Amino acid sequence: MGDFQVTYGENTLVFSVSYRENLAGKVRIHVQPDQRVVVDAPPQTPITEIKRAVLKRARWIRNQLAKLEATHRHALHRQYVSGETHWYLGKRYLLKVRKTTRDAGVVKLLGAQLVVSVPDRNASSVKEALDIWYRARALQVFERRLAALYPDLRWVEAIPEWRLRPMKKQWGSCSPQGRLSLNPMLVKAPRQCIDYVVIHELCHLKHHNHSSEYYALLTRRLPDWQERKRRLDCLAEQILC
Ligand SMILES: [Zn+2]
Repeated sequence: MGDFQVTYGENTLVFSVSYRENLAGKVRIHVQPDQRVVVDAPPQTPITEIKRAVLKRARWIRNQLAKLEATHRHALHRQYVSGETHWYLGKRYLLKVRKTTRDAGVVKLLGAQLVVSVPDRNASSVKEALDIWYRARALQVFERRLAALYPDLRWVEAIPEWRLRPMKKQWGSCSPQGRLSLNPMLVKAPRQCIDYVVIHELCHLKHHNHSSEYYALLTRRLPDWQERKRRLDCLAEQILC
């Protein structure tokens, strides 16, 4: 990996290059959620060729960066008012805030709406009601996915001990004792991404590290894990906030 740049009109695009096998001779450009531009290239691709590829897609890259910037601003300014979008299982729902005479908040999915009824409509009560709801959904969904996925993995004899743990930058983890933690916010992601995180952690029950044996195992069990991971990375900013 190293940083390079190309000039495009009056702008400079900075990117890093990651040389990888198995790209079928192709240069691939990714704009990551943290707004870094990464180019995957087959080993020995000349830098001039890589720069040409980046220039060719400069407009697309700039658009992606602008979108990420907008999402970032949006996510930072969530106000928990009607009309905002919130995620659940990879779909966006329109938040609808209602006033209720009950003491506690109630959250319901109604069609394309996520309806939150709270005694007072301030942001912190709405957020609290939503957090409780997401945690409850996460417990159910993750338990179901663990139950569905573990039988195909020979080294896992039963659903391992697991818990929900809010984390700022991680979706899951596996302790040396084999106890899994899953981020409740993961329930906002599509099921394919949830399964990726669950299988990633279950593979750690066999290899407690990120060695090449570990990745070989993960790839055997989930050949398209990189695609799922990328999809999740793209959503991270929106769903972790
Ligand atoms: Zn891991």
